[in-house]
Amino acid sequence: MAAVEFVDVRKSFGAFPVIKGVNIEIADGEFVILVGPSGCGKSTLLRMLAGLENISAGEIRIGGRVVNGLAPGERDIAMVFQNYALYPHMTVAQNMAFSLMLKRAPKADMDQRVDKAAGILGLTKLLDRYPRQLSGGQRQRVAMGRAIVRDPQVFLFDEPLSNLDAKLRVAMRAEIKELHQRLSTTTVYVTHDQIEAMTMADKIVVMHDGVVEQVGAPLDLYDNPANLFVAGFIGSPAMNMFKGRLNPDNANQFIASDGTALPVANPPAGAKGRDLIYGLRPEYILLDANGLPAEIVVIEPTGYETQLIVRFGGADVSCVFRERVNARPGETLRISIDAPHVHLFDAESGQRLS
Ligand code: ATP
Repeated sequence: MAAVEFVDVRKSFGAFPVIKGVNIEIADGEFVILVGPSGCGKSTLLRMLAGLENISAGEIRIGGRVVNGLAPGERDIAMVFQNYALYPHMTVAQNMAFSLMLKRAPKADMDQRVDKAAGILGLTKLLDRYPRQLSGGQRQRVAMGRAIVRDPQVFLFDEPLSNLDAKLRVAMRAEIKELHQRLSTTTVYVTHDQIEAMTMADKIVVMHDGVVEQVGAPLDLYDNPANLFVAGFIGSPAMNMFKGRLNPDNANQFIASDGTALPVANPPAGAKGRDLIYGLRPEYILLDANGLPAEIVVIEPTGYETQLIVRFGGADVSCVFRERVNARPGETLRISIDAPHVHLFDAESGQRLS
């Protein structure tokens, strides 16, 4: 196991900068997820850590050792890819043992490591099968088994679940998390799926356009997003955003662009007269017989909760109620806002003010 550090890391492809000065500290044994929209640079960052891509500037350290100039094989890491990359003509056992064979490990040691990894991953009965005889989830487990047998200092995962169907993805999420709890190996995991990040990570690194927007524990990012990008990216359904300004005569009111007055519990200093964004998570909208009218656009009962889109404050707004709602599109609900949970952002800089 080892800590991993990125120190002012930069990368350009030709004249095109894709990583623009990234600093990340990953503690020994931590499970860190790099998340962000397509093209933000997360795979490039992971590939640089793996040694598959060189670094234009800065330093990457694994266990305190600068690895910039080291080949992938010298970094003591193991990577699991999206497409598993199993050898079709080799059995599960041979696939798992392959890297040890290359290192000319003694046969007894090799067998013992493969058996142990197979036990952890529930692959013991499948060791003689070929990849074509396995399900997607089983193949994914073999790919992880191949990483485990190497007993590396760091595991790297690049979107390992994106080829699986939704149900299997949820199951594998739990397996990977459990695996990490068992082995406590430092893990760096890349995904564009914020739910994967929220459910698995000790720490999330939110990336956007080659820079780190925020680093934090999942719920900390959810509750205290640093800026509009993180607020909009973390959470599903996404945070509702209204453009507007504080009421010049009453800072406890936000006036949305259609004139609707929305409550503000903690008006930030200096926000009067500035263009703001009012950020409201769907679960902080409450059904309230004395509240403001909102017309139902879409209603989706999921069984244990009801998700809706309503027309309110000049916008289509997502709400999630933890109860059943007997209503149809076109009807009007009355809602209120749990004001202490509202965030205000500066519209120009995107920074959170409260
Ligand atoms: P995705 O989720 O789509 O994989 P990502 O966040 O992992 O996205 P990267 O694959 O790291 O993004 O790519 C970051 C940027 O670098 C993109 O704009 C991409 O087009 C560019 N890029 C990646 N590899 C190369 C390359 N070999 N040559 C030129 N540009 C590249």
